[in-house]
Amino acid sequence: MTKLTDHDLLIAGAGAAGLTMAVAAVDAGWRVALIDPGPMTAKPHEHSAGDARTTAIMASGIRMLERLGVWDGLAGISAPLRLLELVDDSVRPPMRQRFDASEIGQDWFAQNIPNDALKGALLARLAGSDKITMLPGNKVLSISNRGDHMLVATETGRLTTRLLVAADGHKSPCRQMLRLSVSARTPRETALVFNTDHSLDHDGVSYEFHGPLTGNGKTAQVTTIPLPGKRSAINVVGDQATISAIMDMDAAARATMVGQATRQVLGTITETEAPKSFPIRPFTARRLSAERAVLIGEAAHALPPIGAQGLNTTLADIAVLIDLMGDAANDDPGRQQVTDSYARQRRADIMARSNATGMLSDMVHRGNPLIDRLRRVGLQAIGNIGPLRRQLMARGMEPVGKVPPLMAK
Ligand SMILES: Cc1cc2nc3c(=O)[nH]c(=O)nc-3n(C[C@H](O)[C@H](O)[C@H](O)COP(=O)(O)OP(=O)(O)OC[C@H]3O[C@@H](n4cnc5c(N)ncnc54)[C@H](O)[C@@H]3O)c2cc1C
Repeated sequence: MTKLTDHDLLIAGAGAAGLTMAVAAVDAGWRVALIDPGPMTAKPHEHSAGDARTTAIMASGIRMLERLGVWDGLAGISAPLRLLELVDDSVRPPMRQRFDASEIGQDWFAQNIPNDALKGALLARLAGSDKITMLPGNKVLSISNRGDHMLVATETGRLTTRLLVAADGHKSPCRQMLRLSVSARTPRETALVFNTDHSLDHDGVSYEFHGPLTGNGKTAQVTTIPLPGKRSAINVVGDQATISAIMDMDAAARATMVGQATRQVLGTITETEAPKSFPIRPFTARRLSAERAVLIGEAAHALPPIGAQGLNTTLADIAVLIDLMGDAANDDPGRQQVTDSYARQRRADIMARSNATGMLSDMVHRGNPLIDRLRRVGLQAIGNIGPLRRQLMARGMEPVGKVPPLMAK
């Protein structure tokens, strides 16, 4: 095995979390190694490629991406999400609730961008930096804490780092190596994601329909999320059998089904790329740090996609961690004060977002008549009580607690 050079930070995972962390850490002057079994080659500003998901990023996250110098190239391919309309056909009478950003004095809740475009822009920012060592096609195999550093074995050699940042996704091998356990939530569902063209304007409205989809007696959630022009991302969330049945349809049948499920609000729908499925296994890590290691992103928290909170929560993880590490003059980013404070500061925000998305997810989860009734009462309360609705909308847009400098207004 080759002995590789020493780093201040080793970031395991080059998804949106790991890449954003890498850009922020390099900007602060730290020497960073970024490792991922994948190729790390997304082209900047590509509309679609491997991931297929889009992400609605709230204003605090956009301020952060602006400060990191990646938002300029993304602004032109993002679409504002100014109104959420929720339609539930599975209760009698059917329910319709609207959440309008103008009610809380905003033009929009979030800007929606393709994940691949975000990753491409982050990779482009890292290109040419002498502070970063990219290790694509490689993964963390084992880690051991040696007091003033962490020794990390990878497929091609060993590295030493002062801080290990585990950004290696919801299954997080690093989290398991660190023996950090998780607290799981129900329901466990599957999301199907694909992008579409449509004949009518979306007008910045994201629609969320609940109702029967495939005739198997099960209901599912179909969400349309605006993209620039007459384009929208479609997320379908349901049980595995429902999602498999939709996956097996041909593209035209799937587009017809989505058109019917969304009551043709977008006109004629045409699928523009093959769908991809993602397991929804909500959890939060019981501890967010160990000695010389922290968890960020889906390694730390996997949230139901219902409130567009996942990556927004991750951006807050990164902003807090960067603030605590300070800049490279502070010399040890893995000191215990940093890892302990990170775990303490992130706990409240992560739990608040996890509880809120869990509550919303429970409200729209079907199958039990009592829960159905409670769901209806709950959704009606949120929809009809103005202050409650406005509080929920405002809460979802900014991190709970002290706002870190990268996200501050
Ligand atoms: C349908 C859907 C819609 C969503 N919509 C939104 C939204 O609107 N707004 C929002 O904020 N969030 C949203 N999310 C959540 C958001 O997409 C995720 O939180 C985010 O993409 C996860 O990024 P990540 O980098 O943490 O994990 P991942 O993207 O899973 O990246 C983990 C990386 O770690 C690598 N890896 C694995 N093992 C190792 C190892 N041993 N060593 C090194 N690397 C390793 C993997 O190859 C991978 O590249 C949505 C999620 C879904 C499923």
